[in-house]
Amino acid sequence: MNRLNLRVPLVGALLLASGIFPLRAQQAAPDLILSNGKIITVDERFTIAQAVAVRGDRIVAVGTSQDVARLAGPNTRRIDLRGKSVIPGLIDNHMHLLRAGQTWLKELRFDGVESRKKAIELIQARAKAVGPGEWVFNIGGWAHQQFADDPKPFTREELDQIAPNNPVSLQESYYQIFLNSRALKAFGIEAGAPDPTDFVKGSIQRDAAGAPTGIIKGDIAATRPVAARLPKVAANQLEASSQALVSDMNRAGLTSFGVAGCNADVLDIFQKWKTQGHLNVRTFCIGGAAAGTPEQADRSIEQIAQMKLFQGDDYIDNVFFGESVYQPLHDPMFALKSNPPPDQLVQWRRMAMALATAGLPLHVHAELHNTIDAFLDQIEAVNKEHSIKNLRWTLAHVNQINAAQLERMKKLGMYAAVHPWAVINGGIMHEGFGEGAYDMPALATIQGSGIMWGFGTDATAANQYLPFTTLYFAVTGKMPGGLKVIKQTIAREDALIAHTRKNAFLVFHEDDLGAIQPGKFADLVVLDRDYLTIPADQIKDIKPTMTMVGGRIVYDSAAQTSIASR
Ligand SMILES: [Zn+2]
Repeated sequence: MNRLNLRVPLVGALLLASGIFPLRAQQAAPDLILSNGKIITVDERFTIAQAVAVRGDRIVAVGTSQDVARLAGPNTRRIDLRGKSVIPGLIDNHMHLLRAGQTWLKELRFDGVESRKKAIELIQARAKAVGPGEWVFNIGGWAHQQFADDPKPFTREELDQIAPNNPVSLQESYYQIFLNSRALKAFGIEAGAPDPTDFVKGSIQRDAAGAPTGIIKGDIAATRPVAARLPKVAANQLEASSQALVSDMNRAGLTSFGVAGCNADVLDIFQKWKTQGHLNVRTFCIGGAAAGTPEQADRSIEQIAQMKLFQGDDYIDNVFFGESVYQPLHDPMFALKSNPPPDQLVQWRRMAMALATAGLPLHVHAELHNTIDAFLDQIEAVNKEHSIKNLRWTLAHVNQINAAQLERMKKLGMYAAVHPWAVINGGIMHEGFGEGAYDMPALATIQGSGIMWGFGTDATAANQYLPFTTLYFAVTGKMPGGLKVIKQTIAREDALIAHTRKNAFLVFHEDDLGAIQPGKFADLVVLDRDYLTIPADQIKDIKPTMTMVGGRIVYDSAAQTSIASR
């Protein structure tokens, strides 16, 4: 792979990045100047500039095209933005990114696909590409309510017609899975035969005659046996799959991630790329040993006492314990209500106390109203013994959070990682929660509370991953496809801040990431349309034309492909 060609010369980058800014900033010329653009800096004053200069992996100047041009030297590369807008590299504070590497190359993704007709064409094309007998599948990231032309589920018979020679498994978020006859056969699900024992009882839907309909339904647990049976990429394909994943993220404008569960096999590949100087996403891991029983809690508490975070660097680091503490209190995705039992909360509090005692940051899955209240009860008790004030404890997902809970969190010095599942699950949530779904999440209430909060997706199964789809949802309240699913929307500026600068704080890198400012890393995205002025309904259609990470161009639409994948 010939990845190094378009990179800033490494020697220069090393010399210039070694702490001599800003004295040298006036002397040494930038490696790159982007000018004649609309630089949406997302600094504290939301300054708009025209040009930005980069030296090594950092931004060295932001200003008018004229002022920045004066810094140029004979070897400075120049890019004329021709009026295009530029934003900071987008940060997703919670994605199961590394896990996705294990299947990405084999998955047929429907993220952002707004037409059922188009989805069918994609299935046909993939079936043709992989050949008879090979799997055509995805593991979440979409729901049929996003299809504007014909928002209905797939049937077994229909999928048999679309792909007669391939087993097909299409997973809607974690809600249900559509299988064709070949897939059912491969899984050993048949009329007149008992369900395979690892499937959740009642999750395999059958008609009156006992024949399987092709639908598997019943939250995350019900989908697991299917995901477990689907093919992962072979060991010798894992690097290519992970590369395709990273390229797709860069193409979408994403440069940094809070990563829930940093799978060791993909992390090893990321480490190798980092050493070689071409890791194109920043990976801030959320991990640690959750417990499922009081005995396991004992062991977790011992591990917590030994746990060391922040031993990495600006590309790969461990920054949070999470996303689960005491597993029985982990809200199922489509549960309507929770009732956390006191004995389980005792275990949760023991572990939280250990985390506070060890001075560790916590990023914990908390979705339903009663669960959020119960966790806050425990945290308030812990906080009386060991202050959590500067530990950035963060409640994650929080689709049911309300104003009173946000107040309690602010008093504790806590933060909210908001993962709007409704971006694809809004239609499903309206079936379950009725009117209440319109406030899930209560984005205007969260923004108005003044709490530090940022956007994540919880992709790639529970949700789609495209940041401009999330921003469109935040501004319009609509799913891709146009279905209006939440009432509380926010200004596009606030939505962008929550996907950049505030998220830099939520991954412990506010000094280096999240805004286009001198001294910060040159992580930025050039857009084909102006995020600030196009009609709100078009925000989802914005396409990055160039993405940069640490001064390196990692995606360039003119090259028609990711630079890194060549
Ligand atoms: Zn979660």
